[in-house]
Amino acid sequence: MSKLIKLYNIILSNARWLFLFVIIVSNSSFIDDKIAAKNKLKVIVIDPGHGGHDPGNLGTGRYKKTEKHIALAISLKFGEYITQNFPEIKIIYTRESNEDFLKLGERTQLANDNNADLFISVHCDAFTNPSAFGAGVYVMGMSKLKANMDVAMKENAVIYLEDDYKENYDGFDPNTPESYIVFSLTQNTHLDQSLQLAEHVEQQFAIIANRKSRGVKQAPFYVISRANMPSILVEAGFLTNPDEEDFLHSEKGQDYLASAIFSAFKTYKESVEGVGENDNKKEKIEIKKEISNTDLITSTLHKVIFKVQIGTYLKSMQNEKLFMDIKAEEDEINGTFKYYVGGEMDKNKADILAKKMRKNGFKGAFIVAFYKDSRISMKEALDLQTKINNHE
Ligand SMILES: [Zn+2]
Repeated sequence: MSKLIKLYNIILSNARWLFLFVIIVSNSSFIDDKIAAKNKLKVIVIDPGHGGHDPGNLGTGRYKKTEKHIALAISLKFGEYITQNFPEIKIIYTRESNEDFLKLGERTQLANDNNADLFISVHCDAFTNPSAFGAGVYVMGMSKLKANMDVAMKENAVIYLEDDYKENYDGFDPNTPESYIVFSLTQNTHLDQSLQLAEHVEQQFAIIANRKSRGVKQAPFYVISRANMPSILVEAGFLTNPDEEDFLHSEKGQDYLASAIFSAFKTYKESVEGVGENDNKKEKIEIKKEISNTDLITSTLHKVIFKVQIGTYLKSMQNEKLFMDIKAEEDEINGTFKYYVGGEMDKNKADILAKKMRKNGFKGAFIVAFYKDSRISMKEALDLQTKINNHE
């Protein structure tokens, strides 16, 4: 009994502190809620490149449709994925038809006027050498690399198709190097988040759309330089490469690319909104670590991916229910069909997945490694990872 009284006295004498403590705790969760609400993505602007009398690049010339058509098709599919999964998010397209022509400045203006939370511009690449292929993701920034500058200058050159470009861009001339000095002075306040999203897109292009990864790059694209929010520019692939052009013109190819961008968007969304707590927090830190190193933007970090090969077959198993259920990824090589699941950067995680697959009937399941979309040996993969880790 006396013990109880003692306890009662202790509580009573500390009641003041207890009260304060409750206020602090409840207040901090209130602040957390406020932060979460503030970070919620509400408006996304999707910008299909080109349009109207600007066809974008013409590709190999084997198709009537050009870059503007592909950019719109991927953009609309991507937006549709968001609407289906997050109906509360408002999607604004800078253009919704192939007849619309928009000035470059109007595209970002639309995003700024609507206080968009993200700006995503979709394009397709072109190069004089038809063997160039692969998808690239860009964030705003100056680049010393000629290749990056060339892509940006080419995309910026659409300004010339505007009648009054001289008045509208304060003398900015896409083809004169001096014009780009101003970009190096522009403070890029959203670089961190832009890079985060770009990294996710890059990873998903390799995992979902099976694209060769060309890495996240920085280049002075006018269209993303004026956005007051995290923004990226996606070059979905080369229309000058016949194989890639076929892929980009196919419904399936467009769908893969759109779902890859969506999947990246979803990861980004969870990360900035703080959903799924610990995992995402960890991821955030890892990404932070990545981008703190200046030349990492073009580096190979995180590009070794471990998948589990569950089997090789002489016919496609893609429509088998089991294979659909586990979302097996098909890779056809000369009439044989290999199937993979997973896409881990941590080999231990892939080990666990392989064990699980073996337990579930895929007796021969084993781990394979990929680097920049090419299969590499396990030794090469581990050496490469050690190298990357030492680089950090
Ligand atoms: Zn373009």
